[in-house]
Amino acid sequence: MSTPEAGGLQTTTANDVKATATFIERLPLQPTDASPITDTIYDSSIETDLFKDVQFLVSEGIALSEVDKADCIRLVLAAREAIAHPNQSGYHVKAAGLTESGEIIIGANDENSICDAYAHGETSVMSQVRAQGEEVRMIGFFKPSEKAEDISINPCGACRDVLEQNAPSDLLIAGGNGKDILVVRQLAEFSRDDFDEISVEEVNLDGIDQAFVALDSAAYGYIPEEKQSELYGVSLIGANELTRARGSFYTNAGYDAIPAGLAAATTFNDTVDPSTPEDLSEIVVVGLGKIPHLLYRDRAALLELDEILRKGGRTIPLPIYLVAVDPETFLPLKAQVTNTEECFPNPFSAGAFGMTEALDRNYKALFDEKI
Ligand SMILES: [Zn+2]
Repeated sequence: MSTPEAGGLQTTTANDVKATATFIERLPLQPTDASPITDTIYDSSIETDLFKDVQFLVSEGIALSEVDKADCIRLVLAAREAIAHPNQSGYHVKAAGLTESGEIIIGANDENSICDAYAHGETSVMSQVRAQGEEVRMIGFFKPSEKAEDISINPCGACRDVLEQNAPSDLLIAGGNGKDILVVRQLAEFSRDDFDEISVEEVNLDGIDQAFVALDSAAYGYIPEEKQSELYGVSLIGANELTRARGSFYTNAGYDAIPAGLAAATTFNDTVDPSTPEDLSEIVVVGLGKIPHLLYRDRAALLELDEILRKGGRTIPLPIYLVAVDPETFLPLKAQVTNTEECFPNPFSAGAFGMTEALDRNYKALFDEKI
């Protein structure tokens, strides 16, 4: 039995004990910025009574069977054994995947110094699952935190891309920290593509042109032909005609792939006029023949850029226009509109996590300290 609860969550427990609304209200949606806790605290040789009287907090629409509940507990306890190396972020992402054949595979984030050649917890699990020729049935996280309420689940943009491409949208994702609460959500809660249709006349024409140039400039030599239709170009447009930044997909033989939204944010950072911190007004994304599917890694990059720029005083999210261009005539065919927040549900970003100091530093670097 399950009971509708506040905030779209419903509760269900082995003993059908209802969680209090108070608890749900203080349930953080994202990781906190607290000091990392070392893995040694969770040495598996230390006997504990984790999840003895477990209570499940599940999203609306999820009906857990008794087998599902047992799998959630098994999976989160298995994830506890994964050893993370978060020498950049400080976040210990201890993950596990349950395969269709019932096997549990663990993985963790493995970070390096200041480059991005690293593994995330979820991608580490997924690559192992797939290397065994398996499909994933459920993902679990163990959160090494002493705080009972610190049990959020929130995949980053890159991990959402991997899960979206390799797992069903109703994939269950369980998370807990051993304090007798397990949160269970569905992959679909972290994705959104149903944006508002608008007339192409409503989109900044220069923005379309710039994004099309970016699409045309993509270094796609390593992207297989059947995937090339998924490419898009991105432009960042300001009221000031000098505020123009384009972003193109870039790949090389080492597959150091950079998606177009991240590239546009990088271009903007390198070229922005430091005297116009509030100028950027819209983001345009152009795909050939169809409305482009914006990668979640790009949604994360564009939201975070927006959060930095909002330090200049703007209070509403930047609009994002998604435009399909005719492959023959290159004229715009149809368009949709969303914004940096709407397109990235349960956002994984510095602003969403309350990391205001990091945003302040980045804002200062962009506008106060240009040489
Ligand atoms: Zn990730």
